Amino acid sequence: MLGLMQNWPLTVDRILDHAANWHGDREIVSRSIEGPIVRTTYGEVRTRAKKLSNALKGLGVKPGDRVATLAWNTGRHIEAWYAIMGMGAVCHTLNPRLFAEQLCYIINHAEDKVIFTDLTFLPILKEHRASMPTVEHVVVMTDEAGMAEADFPGALCFETLVAGGGPDCVWGDFDENTASSLCYTSGTTGHPKGVLYSHRSNFIHTLVTLGVDVMNISARDTVLPVVPMFHANAWGLAFSCAAAGAKLVMPGQKLDGASVYELLETEGVTFSAAVPTVWLGLLTHMRENKLGLSTLKRVVIGGSAVPEAIVRGFRDEFGVDVTHAWGMTEMSPLGTLSSPTAKVAATDPETQLRYKLKQGRPPVGVEMKLENDAGERLPHDGTTFGRLMVKGPFIVDSYFKGDGGQILDDEGFFDTGDVATIDGDGYMQITDRAKDVIKSGGEWISTIEIENIAVGHEKAFLAAVIGAAHPKWDERPVLLVKLMPGVESTKEEFLAFLEGKIAKWWTPDDVVFVDDIPLGATGKIDKKLIRERMKGYVLPTAKAKETA
Ligand code: ADP
Repeated sequence: MLGLMQNWPLTVDRILDHAANWHGDREIVSRSIEGPIVRTTYGEVRTRAKKLSNALKGLGVKPGDRVATLAWNTGRHIEAWYAIMGMGAVCHTLNPRLFAEQLCYIINHAEDKVIFTDLTFLPILKEHRASMPTVEHVVVMTDEAGMAEADFPGALCFETLVAGGGPDCVWGDFDENTASSLCYTSGTTGHPKGVLYSHRSNFIHTLVTLGVDVMNISARDTVLPVVPMFHANAWGLAFSCAAAGAKLVMPGQKLDGASVYELLETEGVTFSAAVPTVWLGLLTHMRENKLGLSTLKRVVIGGSAVPEAIVRGFRDEFGVDVTHAWGMTEMSPLGTLSSPTAKVAATDPETQLRYKLKQGRPPVGVEMKLENDAGERLPHDGTTFGRLMVKGPFIVDSYFKGDGGQILDDEGFFDTGDVATIDGDGYMQITDRAKDVIKSGGEWISTIEIENIAVGHEKAFLAAVIGAAHPKWDERPVLLVKLMPGVESTKEEFLAFLEGKIAKWWTPDDVVFVDDIPLGATGKIDKKLIRERMKGYVLPTAKAKETA
């Protein structure tokens, strides 16, 4: 027997409709690419986005066509995002931090018809225009005055398009399973692959994010998504804030400590989300200038593991609560959060902090299991490592155009490529990416755990651990450290710091001080590049063995 409730398609245009109808005067504040702070509202954003949908139709965009954005977080980006999705086209967020060849690959693979771009990215688009044959139009997200600086033949002006479009576009007149958006994984191995979200998957993810143990966003919040819209949909915030009626503060292209701090204070931000490196920049800026925070209460940190020093710094010096989150592009992206259970909330602050450093527990809608390489389920005992597998209504089923073939196991679970433990309280902890884990004498060593402890040393700015070949043990860990500016240190100092904090056999065989630890396009330590740079490196312990 079927239920007798209304079939109300879960399409994301309804999220902006809700914001415009019920939180119409709630602000969206942006640090514009041109410089000044600009203000708009959900009501205005809907009107302008509808006009833009009509303008896109005028350019020949049809439902299902891919329309890309190469843009920072701004109000205009939100308008383009809803204009594209609302009319049934697919909003393809491009990550401008990718190498030009990868960007061209992705644009061609997606067959993008139109690209919305910030002024910032015109030079790269101009240089590679000839390698993007499917692109019919480039729209510059600026006004006529900004166009005067735009050196790009044939480029269209965003504001002119908005002004010329009629306000009457009908949105969302399609099945909720229609594709809404496309985001490529950064492709640390092989070519990037496209994750094609549906209206339904985004809508359900949005509802889940609003939960108190998830993002906990309300109409009273002022939210600063530092995480870019091109990094796994800004972790859903462009939808969640509209759904909740929260004020949005969009940081544009300035993500340094001073610029983020300024917006936090001037706009009264209560909640923010970003990768750890952004927060390191903010904490350093506040400490150097002896600044405090007057409104910020909560931050979500994810994308890579949160070092203990960040959680303590926020808590003890600035009174801000950190929620650690884990997820991936393939999961829309939220997978787990470190919110306390009743049992954990009843423990002392130090015990609570131990749980905060784990990646956390899944919200409703995310199923998880741990498996070994033979496909057998592993116990949730907090120590057994295994492959982390996930399943749910906002998790990828297959990649765009079938890349990678069948990616689910027999039970319909997707392999995250992460290695993790799950403890008896259901807290998942990532120990590594499967391809980074160090296999020493048949046992696994977690590079993330060593890195997080090492970066807690007061002289360390960034730390990375990779495996280096060893004749007896296969691989042994090497710790690379980028020191704080102007300080000196020794291998012995770092090894002494790790002593007693990790198992003895996890102790790195060497510590190498480097000028640079490279970060990838989504702010994570780029281990592939580090391994390339360390190609000729031989462990001192391996050398000793060779000469013995
Ligand atoms: P990519 O950077 O490969 O495009 P994502 O941005 O989707 O992909 O990143 C997903 C991966 O980032 C996860 O599979 C995991 O390895 C890592 N990651 C995300 N959040 C965390 C976290 N809190 N702790 C450790 N690793 C994380």
